[in-house]
Amino acid sequence: MVQERTAAVLPKKSENFSEWYTQVALRAELADYTPVRGSMAIRPYGYAIWEGIQSWLDRRFKETGHMNAYFPLLIPESFLKKEAEHVEGFAPQVAWVTHGGDEELSERLAVRPTSEAIILPMYAKWIQSYRDLPVLLLAWNNVVRWEKATRLFLRTAEFLWHEGHTAHRTMEDADAECRLILGIYQELLEQILAIPVLAGIKPPSERFAGAANTYTLEALMPDGQAIQAGTSHFLGQNFAKAFNVKFLDSDNQEKYIWSTSWAVSTRLIGSLIMAHGDDKGLILPPRIAPYEVVIVPILGRDDAKVLPAAKELAQHLGRRFRVKLDDRDAYTAGWKFNEWELRGAPVRLEIGPRDVANKQVVLSRRTGGAKQTVRIDGIEVTVGKILDEIQSELFERGRAYRDSHTTQAATVDELVRAIEQVQGFVKVGWCEMQSCEDTIRERTGASPRVIPLDEKASGKCVVCGMPAKAWVYYARAY
Ligand SMILES: [Zn+2]
Repeated sequence: MVQERTAAVLPKKSENFSEWYTQVALRAELADYTPVRGSMAIRPYGYAIWEGIQSWLDRRFKETGHMNAYFPLLIPESFLKKEAEHVEGFAPQVAWVTHGGDEELSERLAVRPTSEAIILPMYAKWIQSYRDLPVLLLAWNNVVRWEKATRLFLRTAEFLWHEGHTAHRTMEDADAECRLILGIYQELLEQILAIPVLAGIKPPSERFAGAANTYTLEALMPDGQAIQAGTSHFLGQNFAKAFNVKFLDSDNQEKYIWSTSWAVSTRLIGSLIMAHGDDKGLILPPRIAPYEVVIVPILGRDDAKVLPAAKELAQHLGRRFRVKLDDRDAYTAGWKFNEWELRGAPVRLEIGPRDVANKQVVLSRRTGGAKQTVRIDGIEVTVGKILDEIQSELFERGRAYRDSHTTQAATVDELVRAIEQVQGFVKVGWCEMQSCEDTIRERTGASPRVIPLDEKASGKCVVCGMPAKAWVYYARAY
């Protein structure tokens, strides 16, 4: 049964991107469909990637003064309705609990689509004075959004994430928090996941429901579509006013707090699959791969020599790297090679009787190139160097792709042509009027992804010809 799984040919990434994506997610054993509508099971190999993201972020959050907390899964309807834009934005996607056992509840409870409406009321209890600020906390949890069309990792009815919720004394402090978090996300994306991103803010139409400003990271996937890779929301005093969260400042004035919220989700794993994989399957950047190195002993008559040598090698490299020794005897070495290519292990080491005798192994990189023979003596240095090379190779590939799929347009016709033919980001000047944005959406099917930070606008609005107030990157998006 298991043998058949890799025997079937994977669709080509360049020919059927969507089916390729789904097949890789399933066959690499990252996730699977469940009987629950739109909800996936994350399998151990996929969950190990999530744990890698989680532990890296958790360390960075703690280094910057944040702490983990937990809040209820269920939110009373009256609370969810307190911030008008917020409820309007989420209403179509909320799942409701109406009964406890057989008894109908006097008030419906929302399964959290996000937790502002349960966390802010707690802040109202906990924050009295400017001495109580800032509050820097986050919760690692799950949320439910009743999505119509779902796809593994990219859009699921239930997903995992963390949600940061901070409260500050001043607007400047809250804005600085948003930028700090955006910087941490950018580091995660670019240095760990090897996915280059554009950092900036969303135009008002694309903001988080109830936010005063949304900072975002946008990545370009190999099919030319953009994906939102992380967001950090400056909520201003909108939620503070809706939930009446006030503090007594040092000047004896009662003031509303300034709040932020921010998140990345298991959707990142979808980006990871799309960004790096090829026709053989997944390619994982070493810094996030559950196994950086997979050792495949070539078994046969000389097991008694090969197995102990392979175990010793695994133990030795295991001190520095995440290593998997694949010593299952029910599978051939060739089958295992395919399996670990499908599952994206960055480096594979083969060791057979002749290698044992010569104190060497054969090394293959998942990113391609000829196999090479490596001396076991000092192998950790060679492997370390090669893993670093793979990590930067993947990032550079992504950046080269993005750069060659980013164009600039001076007219709507040029913009339409670029979206259809180049397929990627198109940068245009914008006057900041909603009607001009609407025109572009209608003509191209693309949406405004990001207004770059610290890039001063010049020239004219691509639609109306008035002076441009901002640059905007448009793309079709997930
Ligand atoms: Zn305009």
